[in-house]
Amino acid sequence: MIHEILAVGPLQCNCSIVGDEVSHEAMVIDPGADISKILSIVARHGLQVKQIVVTHAHLDHIGGAMELKTATGAPILLNENDAELVAMLPVQAQWLGMRDPGQMEIDGSPKGGDKVLAGAVSGEILLTPGHTEGSLCVYFEPEKKLIAGDTLFAGSVGRTDLPGGSYEKLLHSLHTTVLDLPDDVVVVPGHGPLTTIGEEREENPYLQK
Ligand SMILES: [Zn+2]
Repeated sequence: MIHEILAVGPLQCNCSIVGDEVSHEAMVIDPGADISKILSIVARHGLQVKQIVVTHAHLDHIGGAMELKTATGAPILLNENDAELVAMLPVQAQWLGMRDPGQMEIDGSPKGGDKVLAGAVSGEILLTPGHTEGSLCVYFEPEKKLIAGDTLFAGSVGRTDLPGGSYEKLLHSLHTTVLDLPDDVVVVPGHGPLTTIGEEREENPYLQK
């Protein structure tokens, strides 16, 4: 599996480019901004973007999705429970002092257990409401990687004080879904350094029972 991670935009959202070495099909997860940089990595690997997956509808994660869709023709997948946040993108842009990305056309709503595909590479959708109502993670089981969005960070968890956030739901998602994964799974959080499930199970102050 080809996996490139780049921090995009002023809030340095971790965008993942996941590709299949054989078919050269790819998915891009959380294209928040810097689409030209994303496209140059895609081109460097000779990849064709087939799916755009958004872990949740905060502007720093979804802001460049429409531009990437226009450039590649790939559909945008976002859980429907974040529809209200999509409608609020102009307001989010004001809050963050960022550009309003304009009309966002969502093409599909992944459910828990759905698969997102890049050729033979398959990621499983784990629904993890809490940071937002529609937050999801993408789990690449054979590769032991979790793209966690803003659900889990190294040593911390996503904030829940924004519209659609719930601390109770976040902790429930973490304890019932995320911590269900094996200790050696590498976690790619929505921001900041990588970690593992085992490290967070041991050290993350929010996850201690
Ligand atoms: Zn967020």
